[in-house]
Amino acid sequence: MVYTGVLTKMQTEFLDPIQYYLVFENDFIHMNQLINKTIEMKFVGHQCLSCGLNKPIYRQGFCKSCFFDKPVAGDWIMRPELSTAHLNKEDRDLEYEKKVQLQPHIVYLANSSNVKVGVTRKSQVPTRWIDQGAHEAIEIVEVPNRYLAGITEVALKDHVADKTNWRKMLRNDNADEDLIEWRQRLKPYIPNEVKDYFIDNNTETHLNFPVEHYPEKPKSLNIEKQMTYSGTLAGIKGQYLIFQDNTVFNVRGNEGLVVELNI
Ligand SMILES: [Zn+2]
Repeated sequence: MVYTGVLTKMQTEFLDPIQYYLVFENDFIHMNQLINKTIEMKFVGHQCLSCGLNKPIYRQGFCKSCFFDKPVAGDWIMRPELSTAHLNKEDRDLEYEKKVQLQPHIVYLANSSNVKVGVTRKSQVPTRWIDQGAHEAIEIVEVPNRYLAGITEVALKDHVADKTNWRKMLRNDNADEDLIEWRQRLKPYIPNEVKDYFIDNNTETHLNFPVEHYPEKPKSLNIEKQMTYSGTLAGIKGQYLIFQDNTVFNVRGNEGLVVELNI
């Protein structure tokens, strides 16, 4: 079967193991069923996730002009502490920013290759953890808007990592950590205006990814450059397809690319 479509991050279902779906305009592909099967991928072109034009992708699936103009790509997305909707202050489109920023947000600790702090909308738990390839995670703070979550993350960054090492994550080179203990250790550094939102009574969430074989030396596939690739799928972790020859493909990192899959 040949499927053609624009890549967007895989949809997921929090089951044991996690289920992954690649969604094209006219097709819905259950990726777990392709493990141990050969997939051939061809680069076809670009389609910006915002304007839909065939223009080079700049970042996050957007062409350069959409990335710098559209409300969905504001700086506060990557840097939640820059959120201003709670002050009624517009960045690019106040109505959109209010809708996204003024809703419950979670500050969490996740362990994918090391323990890191992160921010997400409450509605994105546990999706965010799945996308990061975390095998364990815990909520530490629940706040009513994105700004409060952002300043908490900034305050905690001095005491815990805020990045994942994707190579380590894909090698499954990780240790189990006691995230409840980490939460207690970080508690004193939570900003004063957030202290009342501390969560101290929940437990770790554990995630199990569908991987038959982890790569020893993950090699990232650049399909735009290579144009075509063929390999046997060995598993999926985070938003990465892992192939048996150690090739890995970051689906989320390639949003906006049009590809043809021959399965
Ligand atoms: Zn665009």
